[in-house]
Amino acid sequence: MSRVELNHVWKVYEGNVQAVEDVSFSIEDGEFVAILGPSGCGKSTTLRMIAGLEEIYKGEILFDGKVVNDLSPNERNIALAFESYALYHRLTVYENIAFPLRCKGMSGSDVDKKVRWIADILNVTDILKKRPIGLSGGHQQRVNLCRAVVREPNVTLLDEPISHMDLRVRANMRARIRRLHDDLNLTTIYVTHDQDEAVSIADRIAVMKDARVQQIGTVDEIWNHPTNKFVATFVGEPQMNFLQGMIETTQDVSIATQDGNKKFRFSGEVDQKHVGADITIGIRPQEIGMVLDGESPSSIRASIELTEFQGENVIITLKLDDNNHTEIKAVVGADHMPNDGETVWMQFTPEAIHLFDDETPILR
Ligand code: ADP
Repeated sequence: MSRVELNHVWKVYEGNVQAVEDVSFSIEDGEFVAILGPSGCGKSTTLRMIAGLEEIYKGEILFDGKVVNDLSPNERNIALAFESYALYHRLTVYENIAFPLRCKGMSGSDVDKKVRWIADILNVTDILKKRPIGLSGGHQQRVNLCRAVVREPNVTLLDEPISHMDLRVRANMRARIRRLHDDLNLTTIYVTHDQDEAVSIADRIAVMKDARVQQIGTVDEIWNHPTNKFVATFVGEPQMNFLQGMIETTQDVSIATQDGNKKFRFSGEVDQKHVGADITIGIRPQEIGMVLDGESPSSIRASIELTEFQGENVIITLKLDDNNHTEIKAVVGADHMPNDGETVWMQFTPEAIHLFDDETPILR
């Protein structure tokens, strides 16, 4: 176990590519943190600098308060599992997993116990005698994970470690990785571009964009208090809806519709200087209330354009009766299934309303 700290860390590649800019955050001993963001935003580079595989251009990385900038990956005692981290193709799966233990000088029966223990947790027992060549990408990734964590490292660094697995088994593998983390009291940093994965596995998520960390927080903090519009849209599926509105008072916002101005109370307050300003209202699809005959000064008429079944839920695409005819999505339980073309009234609870001035949230 280890506490990891990044202090104003930068990475500039040749050709003046600024891959990581001024990144600072810490990961507590025993914590599971996901680094989430679109492709090319600097996630892998950040992880590789923590691993010691990439030189740090500026800033400091500390393990348990000690600067590790100049330590090799070996000296940092980290476990690594990268998306395409090669297995030793001449060795069997068993020997691949045993290798880091033998390097540490562990003896025969202890090695055997450990290999079988980790193989059981990550479900590779039945392929221990096989060689990596000929295994599916998903199986190779499992073996890779086994080999990474079997020697109980200070810090476990995983970069898209289950991306080659079938969609069907991914949820199961996430649960196994999380169990491993909990059972072994690991400190884990997990890179992914998949918000579902980050949300389901991590204690906290660091959301990155354009080489910078935009926000680091629990799922709850990121969901309810995104620090900008990018974070608000990147986390949540379907993504947050945006509507044009106007701030009426420090506690109310209005939306102009064919039926007149509809007013909504939001929770919290905005600064007096915003009163009268045009504003973007953000509403998550999961937080939209919909009724069939609810016309009122605080409900908006909408027509159902499309309904998509998603197991227990239905994603509904609606066209609003506001002045822009905004198209939005709502998620409702399958037992509330409306018909295409039907007219409904939409309501928003004060807690569901997010307000943005350009990129920045203004509610306090
Ligand atoms: P992510 O993991 O979020 O997809 P990366 O950390 O791999 O992003 O890359 C961040 C940026 O750095 C990208 O613009 C990428 O093209 C660039 N980059 C990554 N590795 C190198 C390298 N070895 N040399 C030059 N540029 C690189």
